[in-house]
Amino acid sequence: MPSEIGTTTAVLQRIVDFVNTRRADGDGLATPEQLTIWLHTHDLLPVCAQADADGRERAVWLREGLRALLAENNAEPVTSPHPDGLDATARTQLGTLSAALPLRLDVTSVPPRLVPQSREPVDHALAILLADVATSVAAGTWPRLKACREPSCRWAFYDHSRNHGRTWCSMNVCGNRVKVRAAQRRRTTR
Ligand SMILES: [Zn+2]
Repeated sequence: MPSEIGTTTAVLQRIVDFVNTRRADGDGLATPEQLTIWLHTHDLLPVCAQADADGRERAVWLREGLRALLAENNAEPVTSPHPDGLDATARTQLGTLSAALPLRLDVTSVPPRLVPQSREPVDHALAILLADVATSVAAGTWPRLKACREPSCRWAFYDHSRNHGRTWCSMNVCGNRVKVRAAQRRRTTR
């Protein structure tokens, strides 16, 4: 594994896990209860705390905003009959949300790190995920965090390839899907 990943592997995995709570077969954060379980599983929420509907809505804003950022780290989307898989308002909503989730530089830790200001447990957890973005940028790993180029997928993945050129979450699934479509187009235009 490249040394640059090292200490931030857990951070990268957390971002990928969070973005991939929306799957082709449904939304893993469809209810406040599901968000609560996800946050507990990832040790981001005190055991006694629970998410409510507002917290769940903010979590979805954060997730779709992160997906939009990861899509920008990838190549242009392919031409596809499927919907884009990105929420057009996601970037704006993420901007609004990040203004409501302030982070502070904790200079008592070595090295200094961003920590959430909010005492509200779910906002605190979501701010940790925002801080993960800054951690990844600082580690130089951010450009390799991508959302799949296939519009019907938009699954998040970390590009471990040597040339940083990976564009599909899985060549076997989305890469092949695109190849099949291209072959169909060639047949119909012949
Ligand atoms: Zn994909």
